[in-house]
Amino acid sequence: MHTITLIPGDGIGPEISSAMVKVVESTGVEIKWDIQYAGEEIYLKEGNPLPDKVIDSIKKNKVAIKGPITTPVGTGFRSVNVTLRQELDLYACVRPCKSFKGVNTKYENVDLVIIRENTEDLYAGVEFKKGEKDTLDLIDFISLKTGKKIREDSGISIKPISVFGTERIVKFAFEYARKNGRKKVTAVHKANIMKHTDGLFLEVARQVASRYPDIEFEDKIVDNMCMQLVLKPELYDVLVLPNLYGDIISDLAAGLIGGLGLAPGANIGDEYAVFEPTHGSAPKYKGLNKVNPFAIILSAVMMLKHLGEDEAANKIQRAVAEIIEEGKFVTYDMKSPNDPNPPVGTQEVAEALVKKIKSY
Ligand code: NAD
Repeated sequence: MHTITLIPGDGIGPEISSAMVKVVESTGVEIKWDIQYAGEEIYLKEGNPLPDKVIDSIKKNKVAIKGPITTPVGTGFRSVNVTLRQELDLYACVRPCKSFKGVNTKYENVDLVIIRENTEDLYAGVEFKKGEKDTLDLIDFISLKTGKKIREDSGISIKPISVFGTERIVKFAFEYARKNGRKKVTAVHKANIMKHTDGLFLEVARQVASRYPDIEFEDKIVDNMCMQLVLKPELYDVLVLPNLYGDIISDLAAGLIGGLGLAPGANIGDEYAVFEPTHGSAPKYKGLNKVNPFAIILSAVMMLKHLGEDEAANKIQRAVAEIIEEGKFVTYDMKSPNDPNPPVGTQEVAEALVKKIKSY
């Protein structure tokens, strides 16, 4: 019996989470769900979008799966997702993007794994608000030390990238490649412009790569990487990136395989792991039983593998592939315009998966 923290999240989170639970339970794997709430509703009730008891539950259970959580733009609380990753030191975000037969996309044979550093870079949360005294002091300090003038009406976000952080994420990427029979790791950066952050990332990546002679290594500048992925994604295998580029390229890669509805993810550290879909809370679809549950269900597949429940994981993976190929029990986002069958809802997808899994 595994005890797993389940954070349903908000927006479409609760409905895709309940679909996922049904599908996981249909495999016969024994899981006790420790349900915990985070996000806007709990913020309004308790004044904290991420109560201590949520973190304590993950620390106790070591493994969690979560639905998406809305982050208010500009004002309000800090991103629960970013805080969770930092508090639990979940330094590696793993996002596999693999083509499924039967999906209406421009690409076939995409099989990428995006490994994104999760704790540093412009997402470290070190920010200075426009016009505040500390910000003006910082602007003066920078002008004194570098001779460079930053406009006084600027806001500033700091981009730290460390040897420690880079070494462990690149090592994670190579270890992942070895364990999963992958051939190549590509480090993505903008070292030509940001010499002391991305330049450091590249230099450390090269050093780590030299310790893995069995895996091919190359690097690409991030703008070129975007073009390469759009032109010939089949040439790439494992990509390792600093936080911001990793976030953006993950969505690009999700687009290559048919959209966010199919892109699972995991945030992994040395002690804890939190599994979640790449997509957000899609507030406009909340409560409509409309959105695609595959991304959270495929995140559960990653979770089951992490728990050593390979048989259950493989059953779900097989059922998802078959349902997609048959094309009947899929949501609106997976339908081509001339498809004669209407889309089904979130829970109907789950029911179709459960039926298949029980028949294996
Ligand atoms: P989003 O992923 O919620 O939506 C982007 C587009 O994809 C929308 O058109 C949406 O309808 C569609 N979409 C998303 N998930 C889908 C699914 N399962 N099936 C079908 N269509 C789907 O991104 P956004 O609109 O930029 O963000 C909304 C909120 O989610 C924001 O508050 C953001 O901060 C938050 N967010 C949370 C996470 C997380 O919890 N890890 C990740 C990304 C965004």
